[in-house]
Amino acid sequence: MKIILKSDEQWGFYINPASFQIFAIKEVVPEKSFVLIKNREFLQEINRTIIRNTYGIVKNEKLEKMDKKDISELISEACAKYILKHHDLPPSCKVSSDLRYTKPAVLALYVGNYDVFHLKITVDYLNGKNPKEVLDPIIAKGPKSIFIAKKEERWKVEYAKSGQAECRKCETKIEKNAVRLGEPSYYQEHLTFKWFHENCIDWTKFKIDQIAGLEVLKDSDKSRIQKKLAKQ
Ligand SMILES: [Zn+2]
Repeated sequence: MKIILKSDEQWGFYINPASFQIFAIKEVVPEKSFVLIKNREFLQEINRTIIRNTYGIVKNEKLEKMDKKDISELISEACAKYILKHHDLPPSCKVSSDLRYTKPAVLALYVGNYDVFHLKITVDYLNGKNPKEVLDPIIAKGPKSIFIAKKEERWKVEYAKSGQAECRKCETKIEKNAVRLGEPSYYQEHLTFKWFHENCIDWTKFKIDQIAGLEVLKDSDKSRIQKKLAKQ
């Protein structure tokens, strides 16, 4: 099916259920793909932009929407099939807690920069096999992949998408397209950012790996920011 996104406020990904390859949505999304659409919305009452997620699966040329829990179950089932077939974890997938006998294995599947699906690989999904017995040899042969999923802690640098957000320091609006820096914070389940003007921030308190998004800046802006970060 074709999924047409509104270029400024929407973007998204789909996961191929057999290969677990993840693609950015550019119109055509194949049957049975798992779909994640992200929609940027400005909420007047909290003076913040939030990203709302829509989840679904493509069935009979339609997007069947579902909540995150239900789609996570479908992805878990597909993930178990992948593991049985390939004797490996799907790409972008990590074991997120210790494995115990008879307990489902909890895996984290990373999509894009900020989204994680928590998958529960049960005995049933593995056709009666124990998740620990199936996954222990996979973990043993690869790099140590025990990984604890964390909330986003990096600040984000970007060009202001609109002129609506207010700087949390000087309390004036941040002009559209100006470089701004955002502190991650969570509103309910949604990752949001508290924005600051470039000049309202003490850049010297950051290390370069604490900031996401430098790669999207133009060279001149990037090198200016990198210089500010280097003055420590
Ligand atoms: Zn400011």
